[in-house]
Amino acid sequence: MEENCVMNTYGRYDVTFEKGLGCKIYDTDGHEYMDFVSGVAVNCLGHSHPAIINAITSQSSKLIHSSNYYWNTTHKLLAKKLIDNCDHSKVFFCNSGAESVETALKIARKYGTLKDTEGKNVFIYMDSSFHGRTMGALSVTGQEKYQKDFRPLIEGTREVKFNNVEDLKKNFDEKVCGIIIEPIQGEGGINIASVDFLEEARKLCDKYDALLIFDEVQCGMGRLGSLFAYKKFSIIPDVICIAKALGGGFPIGATITNVKASTALVPGDHGSTFGGNPLGCAVGVAVLTELVDGGVIDKIEDKSIYIRERLLKIKEKYDVIDEIKGLGLLIGISIKTDTKKFCKACFDKKLLVIAAGNNVVRLLPPLNVTKLEIDEALDILEVVISES
Ligand code: PLP
Repeated sequence: MEENCVMNTYGRYDVTFEKGLGCKIYDTDGHEYMDFVSGVAVNCLGHSHPAIINAITSQSSKLIHSSNYYWNTTHKLLAKKLIDNCDHSKVFFCNSGAESVETALKIARKYGTLKDTEGKNVFIYMDSSFHGRTMGALSVTGQEKYQKDFRPLIEGTREVKFNNVEDLKKNFDEKVCGIIIEPIQGEGGINIASVDFLEEARKLCDKYDALLIFDEVQCGMGRLGSLFAYKKFSIIPDVICIAKALGGGFPIGATITNVKASTALVPGDHGSTFGGNPLGCAVGVAVLTELVDGGVIDKIEDKSIYIRERLLKIKEKYDVIDEIKGLGLLIGISIKTDTKKFCKACFDKKLLVIAAGNNVVRLLPPLNVTKLEIDEALDILEVVISES
């Protein structure tokens, strides 16, 4: 039935999931899978977390949606909770990662428009990056396979080699209004930005009065062991894009700015019908409360070390692994065999993992995963590696 009426935009596994609990997800035949995809870094508290269920039930019985023509209580609470945990001052809410990127791009374009420099409207983006599927986000996504059939893309973009300071310097000038960087490239293969590169980006943004945008849609919201990814790099961006884990499974995104960037947009410049609705924001507050006040984030480093040590031991035993990459609970295993086949072999053994880039297998467990669950997942992974 699905094949008849659902648009063919995804390469899907032949499985239908109907319920989940914690790290486990169950298909319609009752098979149990260990979920180390977490809806691609979304289900940060696992499935059916009571805090999320409570937020949805209690808020939906009061007010699900009103309109951005009016204030609502949870909108303010979530904005405050985000701001209290970063160096920034204003939040714009939307519903997805791509929208949070679109917002950031519009902020930077408007910021440039308000300056005296003629044509200050150029975006710099990185090769191997991924920022989403909408036309603006796609135009700054440095992967030909995503862009090729959708030209013309938006004008005024320059691609720079990731972590290449010289290339960055060469492409930066007074026409640049913003530069967008993932502190860790997720879809591109778990590539970590070097501190040198980020420092140079910060310096050039200050020199040419452009906005430094960090896309933390995948690597933010606790995944690296701090609520915001930029804290792990000690470089403060002007604009931060978040989504995915912010709602723990409920669709919500946000763009966060410092004072300088926040003044660019004025009423009428930008908006979103659903953005910041009472239900989404109530869920966001519940998620942040668990992550920050509930101590989930504090335990990530320890779990990360635990996974890595075990993976390094597996790497020593089997030649198929090239490298263990990533930070916190955003972990990549670069392998010498076909990643698609590898992920399918894990799936057949009831472990969900996902590919990134050309040769990397991504592990994205829920942030509250236990060491027992890590062991269970890595036992399966080791069997697949031994058979690869
Ligand atoms: N930015 C990054 C870094 C992402 O990883 C993604 C999605 O994977 C996006 C943006 C787009 O997010 P969404 O699919 O919610 O639009």
